[in-house]
Amino acid sequence: MLNSKEVSTNKISTFVLSLIYLVLALSAVAIFVALGAYYQGEPIETTLSMLAIGFLTLALAGYILFQSRRRIANLKIETLPILTTIECRKCNIKTTREFQRGDYVFKELEPCPKCQNEKQLITAIYREVKEKEKNPVI
Ligand SMILES: [Zn+2]
Repeated sequence: MLNSKEVSTNKISTFVLSLIYLVLALSAVAIFVALGAYYQGEPIETTLSMLAIGFLTLALAGYILFQSRRRIANLKIETLPILTTIECRKCNIKTTREFQRGDYVFKELEPCPKCQNEKQLITAIYREVKEKEKNPVI
């Protein structure tokens, strides 16, 4: 649960969460309307149909939540590590290590171990293997 993985899953879960909140709000409204209709002596059909809508939307919210959890679980498995390439501009030595928080392209790091006077530079940040086709977000 670090860096890139969080970014990709958060993006989806924020969207899904707002969708779930919307559906939950709808179901709450439907149930309140149903209760109101019941206490105001409306025909029982009105109460029952509003209750049905309320519980259907509630079930829908649960379904979306379930689906998104499964999707996030899949994403976690498929996420590949992010790598950072470090280069010395003078002797052109290239090293690769795992991405660390705070890495960005053209960031200067500690001096090169070979020539000692040129600072090493981050030249690339990328995923280890070519990504598969991206899943559409919902
Ligand atoms: Zn060097």
